[in-house]
Formats: sequence, structure tokens, C-alpha cells
Amino acid sequence: MKIVLLGAPGAGKGTQAKLICEYFNIPHISTGDIFRAQIKEKTALGIKAKEFIESGNLVPDDITVSIIKETLNQKQYNDGFLLDGFPRNIYQAKKLDLILVEKRQFIDKVFLIDVSKNIILERIAGRRFCGQCGASYHIKFNPSKYGDKCEVCGSILMHRYDDKENIVLDRLEIYNKSIQPIVSYYKQLGILQTIQGNADAKDIFYNICSFLKAV
Ligand code: ADP
Ligand code: ADP
Ligand code: ZN
Repeated sequence: MKIVLLGAPGAGKGTQAKLICEYFNIPHISTGDIFRAQIKEKTALGIKAKEFIESGNLVPDDITVSIIKETLNQKQYNDGFLLDGFPRNIYQAKKLDLILVEKRQFIDKVFLIDVSKNIILERIAGRRFCGQCGASYHIKFNPSKYGDKCEVCGSILMHRYDDKENIVLDRLEIYNKSIQPIVSYYKQLGILQTIQGNADAKDIFYNICSFLKAV
């Protein structure tokens, strides 16, 4: 099963990705997680990506597309994957198709998680993440059992630098400018499913599952 999750920053893509990937036993590919891991390791890619991410911009397409290509060409992704955070513009969507065509593969289903702006802002304001292991929490909706420490590794939880409100507003603007062409593209292919995202994470997950049984 090959799935793409679309949605604004903070819409809940990572949260749903985790639930879907666990349930269907498919690998999760998050470009944001890949970049954060590279930043943590201070690799050349991480150093380059950091300035774009921290200013609320997208990392340039050539860098991002080559990471996805390299990732998808590994054989553990041959039988299925879930893409979270890619594609983010129509150029990336078309490149993704080209990468898959070469492998005689195609996307089964694209979910657009649709969340209103005030809820997005509330989700991002309360989002906390573990810089060590990447686990994600919300101070109100998904708190760590250990308060400000990670349940997985015990590290202190942080507010992502790019989750500051002024940067979030820029990220949302970029999202709003680029999402429509992607949506039209996948609609035309008949694989787009919009999901109401102003709901409990579990209910959103059940709704998504109901569209995956047929795949
Ligand atoms: P969110 O989950 O809040 O939408 P992500 O973790 O997906 O954020 O992404 C964080 C940042 O990483 C983005 O703001 C962007 O700078 C960069 N990034 C992630 N995916 C892509 C992509 N497909 N193309 C370009 N930049 C990306
Ligand atoms: P994205 O990957 O789209 O940026 P996340 O999955 O990181 O979004 O979710 C953003 C924040 O909102 C996180 O702190 C997460 O715990 C919380 N969250 C995700 N889905 C829901 C939901 N359905 N209801 C309430 N909070 C949610
Ligand atoms: Zn951790």
C-alpha cells in the first residue's frame, strides 16, 4: 500500500502516519523527520536545510526530491510506504510520479487532512517534540506521562523552533499557496480523499482506515 498524507503544518499528519503505519505495518517517510535528524547530526545536508526550515521556508526542491528518490529506491520501500510531508508542491508531486513510474509503482491513495486555522494554531502552539528520538506530544491533547520529559527516552521535550507563531504563519501561507494544484492533480487521478481533521485523532484514524480497506 502506497499512501500520501497532505495537510497544513500541524494538521496531524505525523500523528495519523504513526497510527496508519503501525496498523498496516508499512514504513513511514517524513521529510521533516529526515531533515531534523540530519540537523541533529550536523551533516552537510542538515546544515543546509536548517536555514530554510528555521526561516519557515521550504527546503529547495532539488535537495528534497533527491532525498525522496534515494529513500524510495531502497528495497524496504518496494512493498509500500506512507509519505508524510512530501510532496509539498506540484513540482514535487510530478517528480514523485516519475520516480515511481521508473519502478512501475503508483500511489494508491492520497489523504488531505483538512483542519481549520484556529485548530491548527492551537495544535502547533501546544506541540512538543523530543530532540533526541523525535517523539511528538501535545501539552493538552497528547501529554507525555512524564510531564516535560519524553516517554520513550526521558529527554526534555522542546517546542520546535519553527513552531513559533510568526514562523508558523509564514509556513501556513506557503502551504495555502501550494496545496491547491496538488489537490487538483490527485483529484484528477481519482485517488484523493479529503478527511475532516477537526476531530479526535482516533476518529480521524478510523475514518482513514475505512478508505484503506478497499485498497
Ligand atoms: P509539519 O509537520 O509541521 O508540516 P514538517 O516536519 O513536515 O512540518 O516539516 C518541517 C519543515 O521541513 C518544513 O517547514 C520545511 O522547511 C521542511 N520540509 C519538510 N518537507 C519538505 C518538502 N517536501 N519540501 C521542502 N521542504 C520540506
Ligand atoms: P503535522 O505532522 O501535520 O505537523 P502533528 O501530527 O505533529 O501534525 O500534530 C500537531 C500537534 O497536534 C501535535 O502536538 C499532536 O499531538 C496534536 N494532534 C494531532 N492530531 C490531533 C487531533 N486529532 N486532536 C488534537 N490534537 C492533535
Ligand atoms: Zn525521546
